[in-house]
Amino acid sequence: MTEELQWLIGFFIALIGLSVGSFLNVVIYRLPREERLDKPSSHCTSCGHAIRWYDNIPVLSYLLLGGKCRDCKAHISIRYTLVELANLLLWICCMLKFGITVYSGLCMILCSLLLVIFFIDLEHQIVCDSTVIGILLVGALMAIFCPEPVVWYDRLIGGGAAFLFFLLLFYGSQLILKKEALGGGDVKLMGACGLALGWQNVALGTFLGAIIGCVYLLIASALGKLQSDKPIPFAPMLTAGVAIALFFGQSIIGWYLGLFL
Ligand SMILES: [Zn+2]
Repeated sequence: MTEELQWLIGFFIALIGLSVGSFLNVVIYRLPREERLDKPSSHCTSCGHAIRWYDNIPVLSYLLLGGKCRDCKAHISIRYTLVELANLLLWICCMLKFGITVYSGLCMILCSLLLVIFFIDLEHQIVCDSTVIGILLVGALMAIFCPEPVVWYDRLIGGGAAFLFFLLLFYGSQLILKKEALGGGDVKLMGACGLALGWQNVALGTFLGAIIGCVYLLIASALGKLQSDKPIPFAPMLTAGVAIALFFGQSIIGWYLGLFL
């Protein structure tokens, strides 16, 4: 493949990434509300008016409409644009890290699923089973198409170990704290992520998720925004940790081991 062709294909994949990001918004909104994903077509959640195709262009429409519905002038959440941009960024990272390959495509699907889980858990404090099943399927394919020669057992160990670890945490926290500090969805999620990433990277992802969680708790309590009656969603931190491990896992682990060798 010539370099020009690679750039062209990369550009089109990035455009698809933006459009998929737009679809992810539909998934994030409808999945936890148990609505159908295909019907009805996108509409304003405030006035119910169908969104015209030219008002549905990722990022651009939000800017042109000034973040307001064309019909009822209701405020449109910046989250929609953030999801589109985040998906675009993640897909570009996949291409930079893994090139234009089948494996890279699988990583893009994984990232989009992580993004959906991130935002649904943030808003509703649930991890939908269908998204976890998606990661499980993609994870199995990633083990098959992984460019490095190891590794299917590495991935299997990752899935099993992560699942057991979080299961222990789940029951342990119930036993000791007498309340659910961790959702059952988190246990399934991390088992699936272990299959997708292998044991080293899922261990790193868990560790990074815990650090992100601690930083969040410190900042939230310093700002007085911590409500004791409201459960803290853990999946956003874990999915962020997993995404970082996907892209930088090898470098971080290599650097860490280098400290001792
Ligand atoms: Zn409206």
